[in-house]
Amino acid sequence: MSQPYEGGCQCGAVRYKITSAATVIYACHCNHCQTQSGSAFGLSFRLPGAHFQLTKGELKTYDRQGDTQIIRGSFCADCGTRIHHTLETQPNVISLKPGTLDDTTWLPKPTNVWVRGAQPWVAFPDGEVVYRKSFADGPDAL
Ligand SMILES: [Zn+2]
Ligand SMILES: [Zn+2]
Repeated sequence: MSQPYEGGCQCGAVRYKITSAATVIYACHCNHCQTQSGSAFGLSFRLPGAHFQLTKGELKTYDRQGDTQIIRGSFCADCGTRIHHTLETQPNVISLKPGTLDDTTWLPKPTNVWVRGAQPWVAFPDGEVVYRKSFADGPDAL
């Protein structure tokens, strides 16, 4: 699939396009991501905010106090689909929820973070570098 990449929420009220294919993608296994996604982990695809453009609809926001800063979640007010997160200290970087892209087949393999909170049935390949806590805390081979 070629750029720009497009995506949107479940109900179609919100549409967006991104003009860069960031290469950094995380699968976060923390409790907050499990709650937010209603699943086993959350995916975050980091890209410059200038490379994200809302093309239809509006996003509602929800601010959560994280361990060290406010994390803002932006979502469709109609269907609740989370579109992206931003950090208070990095307002120009977006963590897109890449499952909202129309085509997800090209997404790179994620780096696993906060695996200390991972569900016990989530398996990581032998020798793969994973992060028990955040990426900034450094790697921790299994
Ligand atoms: Zn929607
Ligand atoms: Zn998380």
